[in-house]
Amino acid sequence: MKMLLDVERPQIGFGAFSPVDDVTFGIDRGEILGVVGESGSGKSLSATAIMGLLPRIGARISSGRMTFDGIDLVGLPEKRMRRLRGGKIALITQNPMTSLDPMIRVGPQIDQSSRLHLKVDRKAARARSLALMADMQIPNPAVVYDLYPFQLSGGMKQRIVIAMALAGEPQLLIADEPTTALDVTVQAQIIKILVDLVKQRGLALILITHDMGIVAHACDRVAVMYCGRIIESGAVERIFENPRHPYTKALIRCIPRLGMVRGSLSAIPGTVPNAAAYPTGCRFRPRCPVAVVRCQTEIPKLHGDCEGHGTACHLVTAA
Ligand code: SF4
Repeated sequence: MKMLLDVERPQIGFGAFSPVDDVTFGIDRGEILGVVGESGSGKSLSATAIMGLLPRIGARISSGRMTFDGIDLVGLPEKRMRRLRGGKIALITQNPMTSLDPMIRVGPQIDQSSRLHLKVDRKAARARSLALMADMQIPNPAVVYDLYPFQLSGGMKQRIVIAMALAGEPQLLIADEPTTALDVTVQAQIIKILVDLVKQRGLALILITHDMGIVAHACDRVAVMYCGRIIESGAVERIFENPRHPYTKALIRCIPRLGMVRGSLSAIPGTVPNAAAYPTGCRFRPRCPVAVVRCQTEIPKLHGDCEGHGTACHLVTAA
C-alpha cells in the first residue's frame, strides 16, 4: 500500500562502506513512528538521506527507493528537493541552536519559512508566526517575537524551532532526538506538543530517539535499528508486550522504573561497532547472550507475522 513516505532498502554509504543498508518502513498522515536505537545505529543518517542533506561529495545512495507522496527522493534535483525540504518535509534537530541564527530575532526566523514556502507577504508571515508561537504555548508571543535566541531557555528555543518547522505547512515532520538536550520536565512538554500536532493537523511524525520510554509514551509504531538495519518493528503495544529480538529486550530492560532497587538498572554490554567493522552474520552477535553458530555466518532477515510484527533473528521463526 502506498503511504506518504515509503523507504525501501536504500544503501546509504560513504566510499566502500554502507552504514545503512537494510531499512524498510512506511509512514502515513496522522501516524507517529518511533525510530529507536543506540548512537551509531544509522537513525540520523537515514533521516539525513530522506531530507536530501547528505554531503554532496563522498556520500551516496546506491540502490533502494525512498518516495514521498509519490515523488522519488533518490536522485531528486536539488532545486526540487529544496522546495520539499522545509515545505512538505521538515526537520527538528536535537540542539535548537543548530537551527536558529543567533544574530536574528526569533520571530523573523519563523517568518522566513512562511515567506519562502507559502509566498505570503511580511505582514501575513508575522501574523502566522504569532499564531504558531501561541500554538506552541509560548507566553506573550508578541514580546518573544522580538527576542534573540540567547534570551530564551532551551525549551522555549525548541518551541521556536518547532514553530519554524510548521511554518511551511509540512506533511511530514522528522524530529531527531528533539528532547535530548532538554530538562526532563521540559522533555515531556515538547513530546506532548508533538503528539498534539499529529492529532490536530494530521501530520506524519518520525520520532528518532534512543529512549524507549518516549517511544512507549508517544508512538503508534516502532522500528528498532541496529548497525544500519531494522531488527524489529511493529505496533508499540505489541513490541513492548512481546519483544522478540534480544536487542529490543535489552533496550526495554534499560528503561528506568519507579521503585527500582538502586544499582539494578540494566546496561547492554559492549558498544555498537563502527560501519567499517560490522561483524559477519548477525551484527548484534558480539553482544548477544543467546547467539548460536549460525549467527556467525548468516544474516537474519526481517520477517513479519500476520499482525505486522517483524523480527530479524535466527531464533525467532516466522509465524
Ligand atoms: Fe542473537 Fe543470533 Fe538472533 Fe542475532 S540472530 S540476535 S546473534 S540469536
